[in-house]
Amino acid sequence: MKSYRIGVIKGDGIGPEIVDEALKVLDAVSVTQGFNLKYDEMLLGGAAIDETGVPLPDETIQGVKKCDAVLFGAIGGPKWDNLERHLRPETGLLGLRKEMGTFANLRPAMVYDELVNASSLKPEVIQGVDIMVVRELTGGIYFGQPRELQEEKAYNTMVYTKEEVRRIAIVAFDIAMKRNKRICSVDKANVLEVSQFWREIVEEVAKDYPEVELSHMYVDNAAMQLIRDPKQFDVILTGNIFGDILSDAASMLSGSIGLLPSASTGKGVGLFEPIHGSAPDIAGQGIANPLATISSASMMLRYALGETEAAERIDEAIKKALAEGYRTGDIGDYDAKEIVSCAEMGSIIADY
Ligand code: ATP
Ligand code: MG
Repeated sequence: MKSYRIGVIKGDGIGPEIVDEALKVLDAVSVTQGFNLKYDEMLLGGAAIDETGVPLPDETIQGVKKCDAVLFGAIGGPKWDNLERHLRPETGLLGLRKEMGTFANLRPAMVYDELVNASSLKPEVIQGVDIMVVRELTGGIYFGQPRELQEEKAYNTMVYTKEEVRRIAIVAFDIAMKRNKRICSVDKANVLEVSQFWREIVEEVAKDYPEVELSHMYVDNAAMQLIRDPKQFDVILTGNIFGDILSDAASMLSGSIGLLPSASTGKGVGLFEPIHGSAPDIAGQGIANPLATISSASMMLRYALGETEAAERIDEAIKKALAEGYRTGDIGDYDAKEIVSCAEMGSIIADY
């Protein structure tokens, strides 16, 4: 029987509650699909600070390297907000991403048919939306040199190397091959040299994927099109800052922050986590929506372990639970038949 080692970082706030439900679902699907999962629990963020004094303990850095993938809940909360920057939970997460060599952030934005009324856009505009934003994570203006804040001026620099663009483009094209073979690369090539460069390299990579249809769009237009007619997009490939903005905008098409997963992948082990934070305001009440984390577990099966069938089973189970009217509180206003707890939602999905 195939066996995988999964790093599990529950984290803070609602982290432990939602990760427990994802593990429940993973346990169930691994039995039916005939593979074995071994979990290594690790500390990060506030829980790590309380236990070891630092947000990213060495054992976690070493531990994740031995895993096939890492499933992560969320970190942070008011308890640790006043610590110095290098001791904060968020610093631990950034450090972990760096240690893991992740340079690609995958953020799906899909709209479940059952929740078309949860979005602020009209149902006919968003019904059927299924977008994957592929965002470059370690380059661009967030990291470029020189950068400086002076008295009379300040500047940052948008830099991309050939290799940085190539490797993120390859991630996007590989994903497009597994989806609908369409990519829209988003840039600002009418104004920025770095975007012209980006375009050229994406075009070059495209030659290795003759089946994939590639288009280009300026970021201002892409922002508008995402709201006007999001169904035109399948895979969106973009750089660090444009991806940051577009993926947040795209995520709101779905209606609740509690629904969407994400993956950070790269050279080594991938990190899979919900897009939302630790939601300290509802932690410990058992009312959090575990679907974003359960979806993240599905992404992990699909993209890190290649267990596509198991991933599909989970995705189908989520749709079925929604179709039967089960809702956690955050989506309780939209065609609910029964409001369920975090743990009940996990069990419903695991039982399908
Ligand atoms: P971060 O800085 O980590 O992103 P945040 O405070 O900006 O954290 P979240 O922790 O994501 O944001 O919480 C934003 C709001 O969404 C909160 O009111 C929270 O209760 C709600 N929320 C977040 N995740 C969930 C979830 N899984 N289920 C229900 N509500 C959620
Ligand atoms: Mg936030």
